[in-house]
Amino acid sequence: MALKPSQLAFEKSLLEERLRYVKRLKEDLEQEGGTTSQMVAAYTSIIDEIISDVALEVHRAVQTGVDDLADVQHRLANGGGSQPPAVPPLPPPVAKGSMIDVFGNVVPPIALDQVACPSCGRKVAAGRFAPHLEKCMGRGRQASRNANKRISAMQD
Ligand SMILES: [Zn+2]
Repeated sequence: MALKPSQLAFEKSLLEERLRYVKRLKEDLEQEGGTTSQMVAAYTSIIDEIISDVALEVHRAVQTGVDDLADVQHRLANGGGSQPPAVPPLPPPVAKGSMIDVFGNVVPPIALDQVACPSCGRKVAAGRFAPHLEKCMGRGRQASRNANKRISAMQD
């Protein structure tokens, strides 16, 4: 298919413009410390770092047996096309006053596990164990108040 003279002229001016751009880019890159060469150096170092990270990761995975070299080669042959990890669904809304731990489990405001009191043997919720033990072992503010009351009652 033959080009019309006007199309040829346009193609020529386009190519000339591209050549001028490449020449200018080359000149900019030859200027050490110039913006262009610094930018290219920065991108190059980032890409180098990413490549070495991936290489180290694959090397470690194969060495530790987490990954198989045949699997890696198979993935590379398929364009490295791994599916992006699925976004986990949002946790259900949580009732007011409850908290969520790092795994998304709902944590009750006080620990509800049953603990046996070593003093009286009663089962107490873990979140209430410390105040119970204080009372039970006769320590703490309330127990000493009770003891003071008993002492003053004896003195009367
Ligand atoms: Zn007790």
